[in-house]
Amino acid sequence: MPLDLVLLGAPGAGKGTQAQRIVADYGIPQISTGDILRAAVAAGTELGERVRPIMESGQLVPDELIVELIRDRLEQPDTANGCIFDGFPRTIPQARALDEMLPEIGRRITKALFFDLPDEEARRRMLGRAAQEGRADDTPEVIDERIRVYHEKTAPLITHYRESSTLVRIDATGTVDEVYAHVVAVLGSPDGGRT
Ligand code: AMP
Repeated sequence: MPLDLVLLGAPGAGKGTQAQRIVADYGIPQISTGDILRAAVAAGTELGERVRPIMESGQLVPDELIVELIRDRLEQPDTANGCIFDGFPRTIPQARALDEMLPEIGRRITKALFFDLPDEEARRRMLGRAAQEGRADDTPEVIDERIRVYHEKTAPLITHYRESSTLVRIDATGTVDEVYAHVVAVLGSPDGGRT
């Protein structure tokens, strides 16, 4: 059975870090729309030029564009056994698009892992990451805007996935290892994994 995971949670909740651990142990790729968009910005492509100002202001890129990116990515053979959607879906229309896209290839969301973290802690972590990675959207003003946009547009997905009984809440306040132990408890031990 393919393993298709949605990682939900505020920016800074640790979705990317947990996704990398899941990639290593469960052998399915991470699809991070944020990473794909940042790569396009860095490469100076037409897409990158279009999304750069949107990302720098902490707003969301239009749904159609994101859904197209995901559709293309799901055609790559490395996603055949499932994948980790990290930072996607971000809106109800994106979630609906995914709910239609996966059945077309005989799949469905296995679990939506909601990494629950208080806003203050998310903000603190993002400021720390800003110092390390120097992301253009990790300034204090943009961080606040991204958290606001998260509550307005993305938090409703918690209800969406609760309704389809795929939602699992994970307390994201612990260390990376503590949070990951909870993830493994939810997913079951990986075959031949290193945990
Ligand atoms: P992230 O790295 O996931 O926090 O994404 C960084 C930025 O990329 C976001 O603030 C948005 O501007 C854009 N972005 C990433 N994923 C999405 C998405 N699924 N829908 C809309 N915009 C996105």
